[in-house]
Amino acid sequence: MEHYKKELLEQWDHQYVWHPFTQMQEYIKMKPMVIERGEGSYLIDIEGKRYLDGVSSLWVTVHGHNKKELNDAIKEQVDRISHSTLLGLANVPSILLAKKLVELTPPGLNRVFYSDSGSTAVEIALKMAFQYWKQKEGGAYQGKTRYISLGEAYHGDTIGSVSVGGMELFHDVFRPLLFGRIHVPAPYCYRCPMGLSRSSCGMACADKVEDVMAKSHGEIAAMIVEPLVQGAAGMITAPEGYLKKVRELCTRYNILLIADEVAVGFGRTGKMFACEHEEVAPDLMCLAKGITGGYLPLAATMATDEVYSSFLGEHRDCKTFFHGHTYTGNPVACAAALASIRLFEEEELIEALDGKIAFLEKGLQCFAGLSHVGDIRQRGMMAGIELVEDKKDKKPYPSEENIGHRVILEARKNGLVIRPLGNVIVLMPVLAMSIAELTRVLDITYDAIEKVTGEVSR
Ligand SMILES: *Cc1c(COP(=O)(O)O)cnc(C)c1O
Repeated sequence: MEHYKKELLEQWDHQYVWHPFTQMQEYIKMKPMVIERGEGSYLIDIEGKRYLDGVSSLWVTVHGHNKKELNDAIKEQVDRISHSTLLGLANVPSILLAKKLVELTPPGLNRVFYSDSGSTAVEIALKMAFQYWKQKEGGAYQGKTRYISLGEAYHGDTIGSVSVGGMELFHDVFRPLLFGRIHVPAPYCYRCPMGLSRSSCGMACADKVEDVMAKSHGEIAAMIVEPLVQGAAGMITAPEGYLKKVRELCTRYNILLIADEVAVGFGRTGKMFACEHEEVAPDLMCLAKGITGGYLPLAATMATDEVYSSFLGEHRDCKTFFHGHTYTGNPVACAAALASIRLFEEEELIEALDGKIAFLEKGLQCFAGLSHVGDIRQRGMMAGIELVEDKKDKKPYPSEENIGHRVILEARKNGLVIRPLGNVIVLMPVLAMSIAELTRVLDITYDAIEKVTGEVSR
């Protein structure tokens, strides 16, 4: 790469780049932080300043940045071939990775359909579920065309995945473009949408799922959930047993279960896949984010034999799944994913997580003492700290305060990159992060919250 003066890069960033999920009018008022290199848990900017990556570069980094084994696997593949199509052809890494994914994921998920982002993985699962019912048993289930999803759901940014989304701020503007969904209350215990309390509710939100299914199962193709943690909604952690209950209900009412493991898959919750915690096997499963260890865009939609076989037929039957992206099954991305999975095994990463998760949990406990920390939610190596203006009545900070954003800017000054979701401070450490680095993440975050919320005592 040619070397440009940093002032020029900063200027051109402001001049030419449109950043995602970013109000550009505000963004260009600030000097951009331009990343030039990575090293383990650190991001290094063009000025040579080092920052801990507390958000795993948007929830993807697993083994750290610039990991030799991953670099080597990619280089080796590039020296063979960088891309060939999967439309009617096969390539070596996509075959090996598919076999590996089938072995790793919950039982029954025996087919892999590749794409390149979480959104497309979800889009594909939705379309598969729809077409499955159309084709099943000579069209006896034509009426099953709708989807159930959770309040506050986030499944990506394409129109189909936004249609099953439930985040007002992101999704409402597109409402006229979307197909309707049937939504059920998010299992959000801190702010229960049903106004109940966890100690006495008997998981009434799951009963609500049953009510909807009992009434409308004849028109429902699938229910889509983010297993255990609704990430983008602010790390909303579901009560234990919720996922299992949803699985049972889907089976009872003949509805496909789509597990969107895009955020929680690949070790994030302390097991390889979040579904494992409740021994749940979905009918369709969406994987992306951590699949390549955080190196390259790749996604997979896993399907059961039951779903897959409904697509089989003669050419004239038109049961083909007419979907595919140009870079589907890209060999370099698949090679990175294979190398990442090999590292999970060689470095016993999942086993090493237990101690780190316990450390994170302990470290987060003292945040509860801060007078503007309303709720702390953690599952494995993902955590959300919900800031409130008033702790007693859980009064949220008004959005003009931009409190989350101010906290992360303060943390950045002290060498930590994190990203908030509204008033929730998100911690998504690189899975391979050391205890010493985790300590720094916690300390800097604590100090930033304390300072910005005007807290004084510790
Ligand atoms: C990030 C995310 C997506 C979307 O993935 P992209 O790669 O950004 O398209 C979908 N579902 C969940 C649960 C996610 O966290």
